[in-house]
Amino acid sequence: MSATAAKRGQKNWPKQVEAVCVRQGLQLTPLRRRVLSILGESAAPLGAYAIIDRLSKIEGKQIAPPTVYRTLEFFAENGFLHKIESRNVFARCEHVGHAHYGALLLCETCGRSEEIEDEALDEFLKRTAARAGFALQPQMLELQGLCKSCAAAARGA
Ligand SMILES: [Zn+2]
Ligand SMILES: [Zn+2]
Repeated sequence: MSATAAKRGQKNWPKQVEAVCVRQGLQLTPLRRRVLSILGESAAPLGAYAIIDRLSKIEGKQIAPPTVYRTLEFFAENGFLHKIESRNVFARCEHVGHAHYGALLLCETCGRSEEIEDEALDEFLKRTAARAGFALQPQMLELQGLCKSCAAAARGA
């Protein structure tokens, strides 16, 4: 999957998630499907409130926040979303269906995130933690900076 496609929003991401849910016997309720398509259409990671807002507009009624929180937790626990702790938003996992380490590159200007998966990085983290007798859980590093286009714009300005 190219980084550009991931940044523009991924219409087929909900389909990938759906396929993994079917394989793993996870149930996709109509609400879960709607949350998936909202996340699939967004260029940048979304916070719970932005999702609640959009859902409420689509449904034509106010959606209760706990319902959406539970849905987001469900997707995060099953490895479909990464919670970006430093920003309190959720990013689509671009490698759905398997637990992994890696890093999220977070642009400070446009708010977009890009996911990188790197075996050498995984190994380094695991080895370093193991030296301290620490068993690492699969998780993502959050790296702040500027994305390619924002960095180019900053240089050109
Ligand atoms: Zn991921
Ligand atoms: Zn950017």
